[in-house]
Amino acid sequence: MKITKIEAIPFRIPLRKVSRWGAHGVRDSAEHVLVRVHGDNGLTGIAEAIPRPVIYGETQRSIAHIIDAYFAPALLEQDPFHRQAIHERLNVIQWNPTAKGAIDIALHDLMGQACGVSVAEFLGGELSPLPVSYMLSLGDVDSMLKEALEARDRWGITAYKIKAGANPALDIERVRRLREALGASAFIFIDANQQYSADVAIRTIGRMAEFDLVMAEEPVPIGLGRLRKKVADAIPVPILSDDSVCTLVEVRREIELGAIGVVGLKTPRTGVWESMKIIHLAEAHGMPCWMGSQGVSGIGTLASAHVALGASRAFPYPADLGNFVKQEDDLLRSPIELREGAIHLPQRPGLGASVDEEKLARYRLDG
Ligand code: MG
Repeated sequence: MKITKIEAIPFRIPLRKVSRWGAHGVRDSAEHVLVRVHGDNGLTGIAEAIPRPVIYGETQRSIAHIIDAYFAPALLEQDPFHRQAIHERLNVIQWNPTAKGAIDIALHDLMGQACGVSVAEFLGGELSPLPVSYMLSLGDVDSMLKEALEARDRWGITAYKIKAGANPALDIERVRRLREALGASAFIFIDANQQYSADVAIRTIGRMAEFDLVMAEEPVPIGLGRLRKKVADAIPVPILSDDSVCTLVEVRREIELGAIGVVGLKTPRTGVWESMKIIHLAEAHGMPCWMGSQGVSGIGTLASAHVALGASRAFPYPADLGNFVKQEDDLLRSPIELREGAIHLPQRPGLGASVDEEKLARYRLDG
């Protein structure tokens, strides 16, 4: 197979709820980039690139530009199966993780379709229901409880992520009240987006652990080095890594530092290819992985779900992939099924994702 064309199409889908994280993160819509890689056999692989200027420095326009001007010309006439050569070509350009990640995901969609198997099977796993978590919107404690119970009643959700960091006392209160309302079996974890100091993290997470917090995502700044190890040693739950492990090399560094207990993976930034390397590195260290979200819409949700199922032995926790329900709409022709707390993937080759062309025409931003 040869690549004949690569498209990068910016689109915008409004969210039902505003999403906030860290000191500067806020968004009220999914403004992402649809990437389509066409093969000379008539097949098309698709993926979604996620611009996060406050995390990776990429914007919607920069992603579309780098693909149009550099990556597409570099990959024309290449064989999608020759991933080593393809990544050598992509890595001539530094950074741009989600632009590269989306191209790699689209290539895996293409390969799965060409082989007549799902991407999960292509990677060594199988299609089965994937338990997911749901991220609660920040607000007063009562409204968060209400949202949690609604998600439980409507979709069978029993795993919840709470954004934390700005107000430690309120963060503890949120965990306590959620545990009371949801019972012992609920899976509850926080993401502080690096906002606690080391001392505050130790005190705050120690209190949260009394209410069976499962893990704490990036509690302190990722640049703290050995202080992060001190926090990890002092708290009774594992540190879940996210911003500290954006690449394979960073995962190795954090494992060597001894600061993390769970390797956070986000397929949008490491594609399938580098994600699998990270998973194998974690496995070699006996460390579990967790599949994060990156605010993916339907297409990105499918891609991350295929990776989590393709290496399911490495992922003991619910994947953070229940958040696509916050979108007002989606580009997928058939919506992803979410019931009994799990997403159910279409039994089709590749990602099993097909774009609704009418919706794409409505939401695309390039006219
Ligand atoms: Mg995070």
